[in-house]
Amino acid sequence: MTIPADDATLAETLESANLPALLPAIVQLTGDFGLLKRFSPPSVGMMGAVDGNLSSEDQVAIRALAFEVLKAYRDKEAAPPPLPTTEQLHEMMNWCAGESVPSEYVPLAIEEAALAEPDPRRFQWEQSPSSAVLEDFHVLIIGAGFGGICAAVRLEQAGIPYTICEKNDSVGGTWYENSYPDLRVDVPNHFYSYSFEPNPDWSNFFSRRDELEAYIDGCARKHGIHRRVQLNTEVIEANYDESSSQWRVRVRREGGGEEILTANALISAVGMLNRPQFPAIDGLDSFQGPSFHSSRWEHDVQFDGKRVGVIGTGASAMQFVPVLAESVSRLTIFQRAAHWASFNASYRRTVSREFRWLLRHVPYYHGWYRFLLFWTGADRVYPVFRIDPDWHDSDRSIGPANDAFRSAAVAYITDQLGGDEDLMSKCIPDYPPLGKRPLLDNGWYRTLTREHVDLVTDGIREVTANGVVTTDGVEHPLDVLVLATGFHAGKFLWPMQITGRDGAVLQERWEEGENPRAYLGITIPDFPNLFCMYGPNTNPVVGSVIYMLECQTTYIMGCLRAMIENGHRSLDCRKEVHDEYNVRLDAELEKMVWRHPRVRSYYNNREGRVITNVPWKMYDYWDMTRSPDLADYHLG
Ligand code: NAP
Repeated sequence: MTIPADDATLAETLESANLPALLPAIVQLTGDFGLLKRFSPPSVGMMGAVDGNLSSEDQVAIRALAFEVLKAYRDKEAAPPPLPTTEQLHEMMNWCAGESVPSEYVPLAIEEAALAEPDPRRFQWEQSPSSAVLEDFHVLIIGAGFGGICAAVRLEQAGIPYTICEKNDSVGGTWYENSYPDLRVDVPNHFYSYSFEPNPDWSNFFSRRDELEAYIDGCARKHGIHRRVQLNTEVIEANYDESSSQWRVRVRREGGGEEILTANALISAVGMLNRPQFPAIDGLDSFQGPSFHSSRWEHDVQFDGKRVGVIGTGASAMQFVPVLAESVSRLTIFQRAAHWASFNASYRRTVSREFRWLLRHVPYYHGWYRFLLFWTGADRVYPVFRIDPDWHDSDRSIGPANDAFRSAAVAYITDQLGGDEDLMSKCIPDYPPLGKRPLLDNGWYRTLTREHVDLVTDGIREVTANGVVTTDGVEHPLDVLVLATGFHAGKFLWPMQITGRDGAVLQERWEEGENPRAYLGITIPDFPNLFCMYGPNTNPVVGSVIYMLECQTTYIMGCLRAMIENGHRSLDCRKEVHDEYNVRLDAELEKMVWRHPRVRSYYNNREGRVITNVPWKMYDYWDMTRSPDLADYHLG
């Protein structure tokens, strides 16, 4: 890393620095750990306040110190010090977080934020296999989104041959398929990205869809993955062949031709929120105007001056509704249940040129900034989701932290709605916050107050040629109807037909989406050498899905390493291990807000069981997936 700036530019740029991240970076660059004692630790909120609420004297002093150190580094007066020890990194974490970071988090944070080396999760063999052994093993990955590309990066590093089958005509997964207006990530981007591919150039703290798609594509190119991707190739079915311990995978190519591919291991990286769910509403097909699902946005449809209806008020609608409202003549939103949305000051903020410069050029700064986001935005928020059995007001919240969250959210919503009683009664949910997927307000509430926007909470009776009729008999005339009704989240791996040992059919085992279960969300008894990414119960409580995908990749690579190094042809999860895990899982899920009696969302199956989410902290899942215990498996 070089510092391409003159003194004046450097000093000016440092004005934009996130100080809780800057000081540890400077400490790491100088090796002077005494600096941590010179300044009181910051007090950091979610995403870490840029000044860390440090005293103005300390702010000035940290910037001045950073200026001198970086100037010397630029002018090569100082040689980089040796890597800090784990204890020293822990000390730096404590300062950066402004609190004591439990010691078990230290190795995790070193990995997740790449604090000591660029790619600590890089795949390594314990006993390098011969090229003949490697050539005899082939992995097939289904899906070229964040998950599939992550697995492919590690397979590349291992030198294990693999193919990715991608049904679309491009990589990117959800970030390719979804393209509705103002789609952006709602998890901080410098954390919602691969740990091994930091991107100092995000234009926004929550960047838009095109940038995410380009990021995935760029990672695939950089790691040489494109040559292994077969586009327009949809996996239709996969059958496990006992005699060869291989999967026979039927794929459909562009134009409809089919082919059978074989693989020793199959990695499903098809995502959880991929197959659109169309609502079962009478007359839906009779609507005469354009009508489409939010994840299949029809960009040639004109909205200007049109009467537009939107069914659904989840994360997708939250993002595109405010934009639609700008041009339509009338916007009618059909809400079945209100969702909680809160405010994040950085949500629509661009990243300044200076901040990006610092991320790119100041050694270790990106890592410390990522650590800060991870620390403040993940497990620290966990208690808000956890039911306090002694909580007195269990109808409206589930415990003190959740109740405080509720009060803040209600105050915010009230303010945004200008105290409009009718809208407030429609917009403040009757269930505890975080019961459904938390949303970030994208101008939703302000949009609802606009003259030409209606929020309809009566149920939908039917759709007619001309609009939507609600249960009160009112017909809402529409020119365009957008279905923001979500996805078949519980139907993991559907509609693929997967058949394992002894004719076991995966969708039957999973009761057609009602009861999907896997060990660690990854492996399933009787389906040897099949690995799921973002499988059952792996949606994180809070934090980034990419973190979970990296954990799963580490685990899967551990399984493949064990198979190849030890000459095993099959690895099949023991039923008792799977079942015991799921008993523990269910017990923990009962303690989470998603099981509150008033909550129903795509997280739950018909009986209310949570089928999508993991109940554990990010730390716990990382710990469980660091390396496979081979005793959990039948090895063949
Ligand atoms: P969603 O959260 O499942 O919301 C679907 C909406 O449609 C809900 O309001 C639901 O009402 C309503 N609905 C479903 N069927 C209906 C019916 N038959 N009649 C009336 N209303 C119906 O779907 P989404 O908004 O597409 O989001 C899905 C997930 O994708 C999110 O939770 C998130 O994980 C991810 N996502 C992420 C981002 C991001 O990071 N930027 C953006 C978009 C989506 P109920 O609430 O009553 O069920």
